Amino acid sequence: MKKRKSETYRGVRVAKTHVGRGVFATRTFPQDAIIGEITGELIEDPDYESDYCLWLGDDWHLEPEAPFRFLNHHCEANCDFDCFEEEDDEGNIVEKVYVFATRRISKGEELSLDYGWPADAAIPCQCGADSCRGWIVCESELPLLRAH
Ligand SMILES: [Zn+2]
Repeated sequence: MKKRKSETYRGVRVAKTHVGRGVFATRTFPQDAIIGEITGELIEDPDYESDYCLWLGDDWHLEPEAPFRFLNHHCEANCDFDCFEEEDDEGNIVEKVYVFATRRISKGEELSLDYGWPADAAIPCQCGADSCRGWIVCESELPLLRAH
């Protein structure tokens, strides 16, 4: 039987934005609320790159599935993600990644992450935040980018 995905989609929907698709809240989330699990393929490769992959630390990347695949970058992001080790039904330790609200999020707001990319992966940012760095790049890598 095909696994139902409704769980993953509770509270969010994917819709068009000015930079492709994005993820929007369909209800209010209080600060620190878990919005959902980011499922996808775990890849152990320090050099792995894709448009959507999330760096989990060390050599690990996650290639996320919908809906959280479509979380856009924002320099004042309202979400972040964290990894947790959990036990599955068979007692194996599995890595789970959850996206959570870093501040209160209103119904209808677009959810966003700060991608924090290294300088060599940076692309121009169109997030429109007052504090926009101009590039999708990790704040600490910004001086490197300016030196180019
Ligand atoms: Zn920006």
